[in-house]
Amino acid sequence: MIATENSRLAERMALLSSESAFEMGARARQLAAQGRDMIYLQIGEPDFDTPAHVIEAGVAAMRGGATHYAPPAGLPEFRQSIASYVGRTRGVEVTPAEVVVVPGAKPVIFYTIMMLVGPGDEVVVPDPGFPAYASVTRFAGATPVPLTLTEKTGFRFSLDELRAKITPRTRLLIINSPHNPTGAVLTADDMAAIAELAVRHNFWVLSDEIYARIVYDAPHVSLMSFPAVRERLVLLDGFSKSYAMTGWRLGYGVMPPALASQMELLLINSNSCTATFTQLAGLAALDGPQDAVEAMVVEFKARRDLMIAGLNSIKGVSCMVPPGAFYVFPNISSFGRSSKEIADYLLQEAGVALLSGAGFGTAGEGYLRISYANSQLNLERALERMERAFNRL
Ligand code: PMP
Repeated sequence: MIATENSRLAERMALLSSESAFEMGARARQLAAQGRDMIYLQIGEPDFDTPAHVIEAGVAAMRGGATHYAPPAGLPEFRQSIASYVGRTRGVEVTPAEVVVVPGAKPVIFYTIMMLVGPGDEVVVPDPGFPAYASVTRFAGATPVPLTLTEKTGFRFSLDELRAKITPRTRLLIINSPHNPTGAVLTADDMAAIAELAVRHNFWVLSDEIYARIVYDAPHVSLMSFPAVRERLVLLDGFSKSYAMTGWRLGYGVMPPALASQMELLLINSNSCTATFTQLAGLAALDGPQDAVEAMVVEFKARRDLMIAGLNSIKGVSCMVPPGAFYVFPNISSFGRSSKEIADYLLQEAGVALLSGAGFGTAGEGYLRISYANSQLNLERALERMERAFNRL
């Protein structure tokens, strides 16, 4: 609103778009404040507590005086710990010089795009896909080129379409496996094909692996395991999803050292550094016991199965089994209404907050994104309420 009325804003501000998860959450909370009983399935945020030993480490760090600036790219011992973690989970060697610690994983998206693309460049982004990829690409003056992910291929890309989307202007490809919003997971063959194309056409790849730990049916395959692509790869990972640390704001990128120095420069000009005690909590998360992560994944799998069975028993709804992340992406096209209309209807009529698939790109039309990061009891209640509402359509 203000952007159009107040010409003193920089023009580029009009290029940024918002994220429907935050907007839908605000609308649902407004209805709750009016006395409505709401079930929140709109946000990609584990409902579990941060593991106790991680909280203790954060508190101890604060008490111990870790309340001052850290080096911009991160505490040396934390960068070392991340390098070892990424190395052992991806089966490669990683050095601390390749690691840049940032406040939340999202800045890796912002900074990577800012570093690598500008006017005239093209960035191939998944459609549907995480909204920041296309939004920040436009902000950088470049053009997002949607790579359609369809239900037919289990929401993995078609190699022919990917090849067709690559032009001499392609500077960056963004992939996200496990995938938000569909829960799809790319295979080793998919990754090998991407690596080969990146080398042949000389473009960068941002591999958003924020959901790497949340896989159910097959192991996570990282693009980093393909050595040929290493020199043009930025890997994104962080603590928000794996360790239920969304509010701590802690993530990192792993990239060639020369690019890491450039990202450090962006940090110096924007955040200075990531909170020091938060980094020490993250160190405890990576180096300490992993049983909380494992228990969370077991619980997520039970919820996924509950959601899939429930959704597929609703007349007119069909939903594929997603192998990763904590989202389901049901097909609701049989109702002949836009997915935004259906999401609004379910918010009002069923008291269930969820997202329109179209908020993730045009190829998301006809689908809803439902986060099952909520208790099984609430998921069962949501399914019952949705079924009743769908039956009235
Ligand atoms: N990438 C994807 C695909 C995500 O879904 C999210 C969080 N919704 C992020 C990155 C950002 O994570 P963070 O909260 O750590 O910034």
